[in-house]
Amino acid sequence: MPNQATPLPTEAPPATGEPAIRLRGLRKEFGPVRAVDGVDLDIGAGEFFAMLGPSGSGKTTVLRTIAGFELPTAGTVELAGADVTHLPPFRRDVNTVFQDYALFPHMTAGQNVEYGLRVKRVPKARRRERALEALDTVRLAGYAGRSPAQLSGGQRQRVALARALVNRPKVLLLDEPLGALDLKLRLDMQTELKQIQRDVGITFVFVTHDQDEALTMSDRIAVFNAGRIEQVGTPREVYERPRSAFVAGFVGTSNLLSGRAAEAVLGRPGVFSIRPEKIRLDGDLGREAPDGEIAATGTVANSVYAGATVRYEVALDAGGQLAVLVPNHTDQGFRAAGRVRLTWRKEHGFRVPEAT
Ligand code: ADP
Ligand code: MG
Repeated sequence: MPNQATPLPTEAPPATGEPAIRLRGLRKEFGPVRAVDGVDLDIGAGEFFAMLGPSGSGKTTVLRTIAGFELPTAGTVELAGADVTHLPPFRRDVNTVFQDYALFPHMTAGQNVEYGLRVKRVPKARRRERALEALDTVRLAGYAGRSPAQLSGGQRQRVALARALVNRPKVLLLDEPLGALDLKLRLDMQTELKQIQRDVGITFVFVTHDQDEALTMSDRIAVFNAGRIEQVGTPREVYERPRSAFVAGFVGTSNLLSGRAAEAVLGRPGVFSIRPEKIRLDGDLGREAPDGEIAATGTVANSVYAGATVRYEVALDAGGQLAVLVPNHTDQGFRAAGRVRLTWRKEHGFRVPEAT
């Protein structure tokens, strides 16, 4: 049997009881454009949940529908079991952080964070206390008096986060919040944000088009394609057992084998995938595959040195091409046109359901 029979450990089972967010039959049309095309989804209380997908796949529209900035064409939005589909944003226990988080430039960080409480007429002393608490949560204690111009990009982003947390919403929606940061800062903020979510324990729904970001930060991921969700699962499930060719390709390198190549290598027809880092390369062309392994032979079409790894593209003798990611310390320096043997453990290959 294909290894799909082996269940993967589910690392973060959705909380029992009423989900923090429940979407049913959600659709949104803008004139002729169907931005959201039938989304059903439960997000548990306290989950760090990522919506991952290419640009234009409907992630922002779903988020805006949860926040109440968009009225769905059809379907319902529930928060903690209550139908809020027709409630305005301010009647929902939800806050949003956008990518282009705009701080008021003439106000200090503290005043920016307090702003929402001022609008709600929270007394001044209480406001101040809550703002300092929120700044402390995002590790900006001591920065309350700074103006936005005196803060770095990452610090400004954390002020925006504190501003959204200060109302203590049950759910925080984040739309590509790290998109404006450079790579190094982005990686730091990924860790920070995850830690902050653990500290405050509220539900985070995080929109991103970056697969690494989704994989490293989330308890669960929904993969979006053309207004629909193709798969929901833990990072491990989505990466190790993609349920469609789209998911296999969007979350990682898909490395698909089909037709004759799949049959020759794996002994059965269908579409198969094997992740590049699961394949080993050696020069023992004649050797049989050890027990529990698959072996194939091929010719190196291309190699790219990337520091920690070397990436090979290998044209299989059986047809088709596979990418292989070799850790630098085991690299044997195969050259283009060199003959190689590829081996991998049977259970690391998986069948990809063909599009219907
Ligand atoms: P994503 O956030 O995944 O990039 P969006 O939800 O922003 O995707 O957009 C989904 C689709 O809906 C896109 O085709 C987009 O052009 C369209 N769309 C989004 N908002 C509007 C709008 N206000 N008016 C018309 N079309 C829109
Ligand atoms: Mg978007």
